[in-house]
Amino acid sequence: MLLSVEGLSAGYSGADVIRSLDLRIDEGEVVALLGPNGAGKTTTLLALAGVLAPTSGTVRYRGAPLRGALHRRSRRGVSYISEQGSIFSRLTTLANLKLGAGRVEDALALFPELEPLLKRRAGLLSGGEQRMLALGRSLAAKPDLLLVDELSLGLAPLIVTRLLDALRAAADTGTAVLIVEQHASQVLSVSDRGHVLRRGRLAMSGTGAELLASSGELQAAYLSA
Ligand code: ATP
Repeated sequence: MLLSVEGLSAGYSGADVIRSLDLRIDEGEVVALLGPNGAGKTTTLLALAGVLAPTSGTVRYRGAPLRGALHRRSRRGVSYISEQGSIFSRLTTLANLKLGAGRVEDALALFPELEPLLKRRAGLLSGGEQRMLALGRSLAAKPDLLLVDELSLGLAPLIVTRLLDALRAAADTGTAVLIVEQHASQVLSVSDRGHVLRRGRLAMSGTGAELLASSGELQAAYLSA
């Protein structure tokens, strides 16, 4: 097991938003963390990335406790992409890629679309191009675990498919992915397993196929949020 999370609680200003969460991620898996607005998905990622200190629970990575801030975790092979994409909008695409821990050529091999945009300021790229930049930069470093927040936010389904396919391919070559999404179906189609969060607790879990097949229950979990 790559990552195991037991009894994780975390929140803001002393009020827990997620409560007693249990999760595990095996090597090379894509795991989706779904749920309605405000369910605690981002909070879970922040706690796993080391941005937010948990109030209780244990997070073990390769059998040892996962501690410390984001940069320390990234040295252990854990990478995090925020909802904003974690890119520097005033820097060029190329400068952003150079800031990554992987090779620029590897990022461009994953997303050749970025090649003609290398000299452009990242802030001037389209939403989809910015996500490709963030994903290409992270994946080029070949992390063991990638935590991704709301990949599809505001993007056309075709671009989302392109990004999800890249994540699936990365998982198939050894990078485990935990992906947070509000919109379930596209992500589930590339996920090995999925969990649905509701009001800070796990409301449903299953394989990607099981969750896709139980769309009625899924909808109920969202509607009763
Ligand atoms: P969304 O799709 O809206 O991002 P989410 O499932 O990711 O939903 P979170 O962002 O984890 O949800 O937020 C869960 C709860 O925590 C919400 O009620 C939110 O208002 C609250 N919250 C989030 N960030 C903070 C913060 N910095 N300070 C205080 N409360 C916060």
